[in-house]
Order: sequence, then structure tokens, then C-alpha cells
Amino acid sequence: MDMGLTPQERTFRCPGCNEVTETGRTTCLHCGRSIGTEEAERGANLSDALASAHSEASNLRNLTMTTLPVFGLSLLPAFGMLTRLFGYAAFVMWISVPFFLLRWFKRHRQLGDHPELKDAKRNLGIGAAVWGLTAIGYLALLVLLLGVMYAAWRSGVR
Ligand SMILES: [Zn+2]
Repeated sequence: MDMGLTPQERTFRCPGCNEVTETGRTTCLHCGRSIGTEEAERGANLSDALASAHSEASNLRNLTMTTLPVFGLSLLPAFGMLTRLFGYAAFVMWISVPFFLLRWFKRHRQLGDHPELKDAKRNLGIGAAVWGLTAIGYLALLVLLLGVMYAAWRSGVR
């Protein structure tokens, strides 16, 4: 049973009018411009690449946004064993962010400065900022820990 669009049908933006159109068509529905198969294929590939660049960027932002409260929970001793679990989870999430960021730039390098990447890049920026904020938290913890260790060492020496 054919329901109109076959599953292979993909969408892309018409080079003539920039409206969304499908790869199966030989002419654009909106402006009537004729579209070659290869041109349609290229357009659909670009549109897929942009879509995955967008979803990966918002995943990255969500990951860093989630790290912050999990990190916060890991500072509350009231949760007992869970506190330690939150601590591990936050650290694993935090440490993985730079890898995801690098992977994004490696994967989507060919898209260059495409104007449709503005939202994706804003999400990456938010992610990087939140990551930095968590980094400051970790630094503060490290300084605190070193201070406690130093105090313990000082009292042991005497
Ligand atoms: Zn068109």
C-alpha cells in the first residue's frame, strides 16, 4: 500500500526558494524550479547533517545542565551512600563533555559556518559555560581537600 511518501523520501531545502521539499520530486512544489536527483541527494544529505548537528548540540547542553544538580546533590552528605553515587555520576558526566564537544566539531566540520547552525552553536556555548562552572566547583573542592590534607599533615608533624 502506497501512502504517498515512500520511506526513502527525504526532505531538503530547495536551492531556488529555500522551502522544504522532498527528494522524490523533479520540481519544487513551492517555486516550480526543476530539481536534479543529485542536487536533491546533496540537499538531503546537508539537511540530515544539520539535523544531527542540532540534536547532538542540544544533547550536549542537556548533559551539562544535568551535571550541575547532580554535582550539587553529591555535596549533600545527608544522602549517605547516594551522595557518593551522585559524586561518581557527576564526575563521569563532567569528564565526558569535552569528548562530546570535540566529537561534534570533528563530525560537523564540513558544515563550516552554515547559518542554520546558529542555534546549535549557542547550545554548545551554553554547554561549555555550564561545564566551566562545574569545573570551578571541582577546583574549589580540590583546594578544600588539599587544605584539609595539609592541616592533617601539619598536626601530624608536631
Ligand atoms: Zn523552490
